[in-house]
Amino acid sequence: MAPHLGDWRGRYRGAAIAVVRPASTAEVAAVVRACAEAGVPMVPQGGNTSLCGAATPGPDALSVVISLSRLKRVRAIDAANNTITAEAGCVLQTLQEAAAQAGRLFPLSLAAEGSCQIGGNLSTNAGGVQVLRYGNARELTLGLEVVLASGEVWDGLRGLRKDNTGYDLKHLFIGAEGTLGIITAAVLKLFPLPRATATAWLAIASPAVAVRLLGDLQASFGSLLTACELISDLALGLVRKHLPGSSPTLSPSSWHLLIEVSGGDDAQAGQQALEAFLAEALENGTVNDAVLAQSNEQARRLWALRENIGEAQKIEGLSIKHDVSVPISRIAEFVERADRQLAQAFPDIRIVTFGHIGDGNLHYNQSKAEAGDNAAFIAAQSAVNRIVHDLVHQLGGSISAEHGIGQLKREELLRYKSPVEIEMMRAIKRTFDPQGLMNPGKLL
Ligand SMILES: Cc1cc2nc3c(=O)[nH]c(=O)nc-3n(C[C@H](O)[C@H](O)[C@H](O)COP(=O)(O)OP(=O)(O)OC[C@H]3O[C@@H](n4cnc5c(N)ncnc54)[C@H](O)[C@@H]3O)c2cc1C
Repeated sequence: MAPHLGDWRGRYRGAAIAVVRPASTAEVAAVVRACAEAGVPMVPQGGNTSLCGAATPGPDALSVVISLSRLKRVRAIDAANNTITAEAGCVLQTLQEAAAQAGRLFPLSLAAEGSCQIGGNLSTNAGGVQVLRYGNARELTLGLEVVLASGEVWDGLRGLRKDNTGYDLKHLFIGAEGTLGIITAAVLKLFPLPRATATAWLAIASPAVAVRLLGDLQASFGSLLTACELISDLALGLVRKHLPGSSPTLSPSSWHLLIEVSGGDDAQAGQQALEAFLAEALENGTVNDAVLAQSNEQARRLWALRENIGEAQKIEGLSIKHDVSVPISRIAEFVERADRQLAQAFPDIRIVTFGHIGDGNLHYNQSKAEAGDNAAFIAAQSAVNRIVHDLVHQLGGSISAEHGIGQLKREELLRYKSPVEIEMMRAIKRTFDPQGLMNPGKLL
């Protein structure tokens, strides 16, 4: 049972009566019915890559962990309808590969894609690196199959892009973190496979420059701009320190931007268009240096630098994580003010900033001072949260852009959402899960 009782970050360890691994929707329904009859709490679990302890059972050994990992078939691909129907336990990368084999793109993409599962992705409304162009998990979902808290099965597996027949119930289960029911399958949108992709790594002076470049890139490339990732030098330094591999040589810079443009038929034309854009940006001084990937392998190596930041920060030691979003127009102000306030209150703290600035989403994390003490660092967590989250709130942002609430941010949620909003959420919870057995202690 051990791998199912702890979280990816090593922050939470729970206990459970049992871990069950149903292999079909009917088996999930049977397990849920048995638990409902016996009044036993249930913790749905996908790939267990949650960064906020959402899939880890509580410490009391009263619940059953329901792992979806055996429910993993791709049920159908409808190429003409551009849809794929997959079961909840299908690993994201497997789903992407199945789509590619059919000549289609499933665009949800995140660093945990080799282990996270589509059911977990939908339950957290996962974002990732291509939201800018294709939207997050919610926007990629057309239909769901869900086992309700009673054990009844709701078959909402519709592959429709238009369906105005009342409340759109699937959206309640997306982002619900397993607190309303168990997703067992989904109909997801597919897109044409881009034939040409151009990737570049830019050395820039500040987040303000990154936001300006984002606007310029959107003006030049429109929806062909697929990704725009901001990386601080400290974040890059952790990857170089802990996962050196074969990282490409890049100019020293305080900030970096990883961009990807994809689409069109002609790979050479795409590469040339990006090259021309970068030449002008270098000329007018917006960009200090740029590396344009010359092959898929070079692009992969540039992406590895971005995708390994989470892993590198984990190896570095304890961290306090903030997955925040603010309006894109306020990103630079957020970074400048939060950096200043944290430096005043905690002069030794190291600020590791990176994220999806095309979506206004930053991972604004803190690592303890190299020689610092773990206990003192963790004791500072709520004071650090207060500085960061108060500022986010003041700027009209969100304290959880894409990772969810889990058990990590429950108190923070209560602090920043209005009583009216919390009561609407509780009313939904009471309606769908009157016994309060679905993933208790998470989200609400
Ligand atoms: C290195 C790394 C990078 C990451 N990058 C990103 C990123 O870029 N963007 C992003 O959004 N997230 C990111 N994450 C967070 C995480 O990968 C996502 O939240 C992912 O969607 C979780 O999927 P999972 O299958 O691991 O779900 P789990 O962690 O197993 O579960 C997450 C939540 O969903 C519930 N759940 C799981 N399956 C079901 C189901 N079938 N029905 C109902 N509830 C269910 C669980 O109870 C829990 O509340 C990253 C994580 C890591 C470790």
